[in-house]
Amino acid sequence: MLTRSALIYLSRKEGLKDFATSFSLFKKLTTRFIAGETIDEAITAIRELNSHGCTASFDHLNESVGSAAETESEVREYLDVLAQISATGIDSNVSIKLTQFGLDIDAELAYQNARRVVEDAARRGNFVRVDMEGSNVTQVTIDIFKRLRSEFGLNDVGIVVQSYLYRTENDVRDLLKIPARIRLCKGAYNEPPEVAFPEKQKVDENYVRVMQLLLSSGTYHGIATHDPKMIEATINFAQREGIGKDAFEFQMLYGIRRDLQEQLARDGYGLRVYVPYGKHWYPYFMRRLAERPANIWFVMKNLFR
Ligand SMILES: Cc1cc2nc3c(=O)[nH]c(=O)nc-3n(C[C@H](O)[C@H](O)[C@H](O)COP(=O)(O)OP(=O)(O)OC[C@H]3O[C@@H](n4cnc5c(N)ncnc54)[C@H](O)[C@@H]3O)c2cc1C
Repeated sequence: MLTRSALIYLSRKEGLKDFATSFSLFKKLTTRFIAGETIDEAITAIRELNSHGCTASFDHLNESVGSAAETESEVREYLDVLAQISATGIDSNVSIKLTQFGLDIDAELAYQNARRVVEDAARRGNFVRVDMEGSNVTQVTIDIFKRLRSEFGLNDVGIVVQSYLYRTENDVRDLLKIPARIRLCKGAYNEPPEVAFPEKQKVDENYVRVMQLLLSSGTYHGIATHDPKMIEATINFAQREGIGKDAFEFQMLYGIRRDLQEQLARDGYGLRVYVPYGKHWYPYFMRRLAERPANIWFVMKNLFR
């Protein structure tokens, strides 16, 4: 059986990426987790989510771009997405990755690119979430976020933290002082034991600890997980502390636990679905398989059906 770390390793293999993305049958199998290749397809998916009471966040799939010219087309893509959200009236914000905007090339370029998107979103009354990537870029991502946050409002730009990192509780205490809107997730990358809890139980315990800090802060945050235990802990804590259902939102990924997504929305909780779309779906898709190797069987079954 392929392990989580093997799948995450494969997610970074360029040769496999080229093979998989040109193989149309493979592409078809991704439709469970990826909303399509174009903005229009993502809009159709988001309309459907909105009709079930869920909001959304666009994610244009293209991490770790290799040239400044490529980052320019990413910025244009996001400006187009923001314009289309305004034009269609769908209920969605956007999520960006700084490597997509050039972080691996030059941090200043990534900041300038992100700034253009945040500025446009702020003008439109929309919101940009800066995703968190591997631990090699945690600090620079926080630094760029803080710079953006010093120029834009609480409701214009937010950040993500990962409960598998030892540093996260301190980062959260620091970010809450600004204050900042935070999405809490467990973390999706392969991290060494020097920086991240190797045991799932510790990651979960830290998740609950950080969730409690966030909910007690009085700022609107996103609790991103498909884990029924984390969701139950959040609901119980909010009820115990008298924190209203509208004081935070749950967030899940497109195509994962749709039943739970709709149930939480029916129960009156905010539920935002992260909607990835675009041609460069390979690393994202492989990380989703890594989280739940049972999904490989889902993919294989469909391949041979
Ligand atoms: C909205 C959102 C945004 C995110 N943004 C980031 C980010 O910026 N940076 C980052 O590092 N990570 C991000 N992630 C990914 C996150 O870090 C986890 O890798 C992912 O959510 C799986 O963790 P979990 O909390 O669902 O719990 P897990 O402990 O992985 O899983 C708990 C249970 O959830 C269900 N489940 C989980 N994953 C799957 C799956 N792929 N298919 C089917 N069922 C599944 C299963 O029932 C499983 O037993 C994001 C996740 C979400 C939901």
